[in-house]
Amino acid sequence: MSPSTKASQDLFDRARKVIPGGVNSPVRAFGAVGGTPRFIAGGRGARMTDVDGAVYLDYVCSWGPLILGHAHPELLAAAKAAVDRGSTYGAPTRAEVELAEEIVGAVDGVDMVRLTNSGTEAGMSAIRVARGATGRDVVVKFAGHYHGHSDTLLVEAGSGVATFGLPDSPGVTRGATQDTVVLAWNDADAVERLFAERGGQIAVVVCEPVPANMGVVPPAPGYLELLRDLTSRAGALLLFDEVMTGFRVARGGVVDTSGVTPDLVAFGKVVGGGFPLAAFGGPADVMGHLAPEGPVYQAGTLSGNPVAVAAGLAQLRLLDAAAYDHLDALADRLIDGFGKAFADAGVAVTVPRYRSLFSVFFGASAVVDFAGSRAADHGRYARFFNGMLARGHYLPPSGYEAMFVSLAHTEEDIDATVAAAADVAQDLAG
Ligand SMILES: *Cc1c(COP(=O)(O)O)cnc(C)c1O
Repeated sequence: MSPSTKASQDLFDRARKVIPGGVNSPVRAFGAVGGTPRFIAGGRGARMTDVDGAVYLDYVCSWGPLILGHAHPELLAAAKAAVDRGSTYGAPTRAEVELAEEIVGAVDGVDMVRLTNSGTEAGMSAIRVARGATGRDVVVKFAGHYHGHSDTLLVEAGSGVATFGLPDSPGVTRGATQDTVVLAWNDADAVERLFAERGGQIAVVVCEPVPANMGVVPPAPGYLELLRDLTSRAGALLLFDEVMTGFRVARGGVVDTSGVTPDLVAFGKVVGGGFPLAAFGGPADVMGHLAPEGPVYQAGTLSGNPVAVAAGLAQLRLLDAAAYDHLDALADRLIDGFGKAFADAGVAVTVPRYRSLFSVFFGASAVVDFAGSRAADHGRYARFFNGMLARGHYLPPSGYEAMFVSLAHTEEDIDATVAAAADVAQDLAG
């Protein structure tokens, strides 16, 4: 029997009176899957506990940051030591230099980084520096890719925007998006046509090099290379939004796994160790346009916050090649297990993956773009989600979101989740 959700429901009722929708980020409200959002009391390793005392194996991992699991002792020790010295100074610190060096050392083509507080800010600021550096206005993005909630990029976005079916958000003016061109992902003809017609106006092409906010929809072979080639020839910049994939699919992100070097990279999630920290970076000649070196303004009262920096640095230092091999192996085990569970139950499902990133599309054949991701059976995903949640397995509350394993998950944890999925799959078939 599923445990009580009374304490969560009481908090949700109170929250809805004082916080819009009761949450501080829309997908947390469980709108797409129904039921009571669980209010979380704490987490340890691969598990988190809600305010009713129910324990869940966590496959959301705070939407990506917790690659070491909850409350990793070394990460917490580093954050506690930092906060014991003081929480913020509004002046530079040694650890910021070390974190910047760590990122620069890990990612090809990134010589300089600027730290921000969120992935939204990183993406927004990278777009600004790209426009400032090229002196051009047009930004090209892809339908279903999510780059945070800044005005320029909030067009046909993935993640919560897709979950709630909001193609365009009220409050974002036509002026803010008139220079944003949206193309279908993996459509080579469309991007070639656009460059043939308007190449000289394009400041930057931004993409999630492995999109994971419309489910996981990897690039077709040669597609990232095509974007690199077209932007280079037109004097435009290429921005990889690796807020999700950076330090997740490999230490060097998709820049490393694809061998395609963009001009700008945005980081977030894993890089901040579970604290509000993100970054964007690129070669010195591009990043040098930023103030105070150059004229492109970007700033932040809490940017490079010492506690967040300490946590991020501790996390990145623990992520070696063996860590990624282990994550990939855990994902293999889970994906194989899910595949077998659904096949045995006769439930049609596709599980697209890239390294340890994966998602589940019901009733869909291979998905190559946002239209395909929307065509999946999201109602069935909601039933799957709720069946798993009732059995103590916390999956993303939307079929548009990726699932995450952490280094704290064990093979036994994965096997327990596969067994639950086999059980739920029988219900879905019936
Ligand atoms: C999460 C995410 C963002 C936004 O980051 P926030 O920290 O939520 O502002 C941007 N881009 C991608 C690819 C993301 O996954």
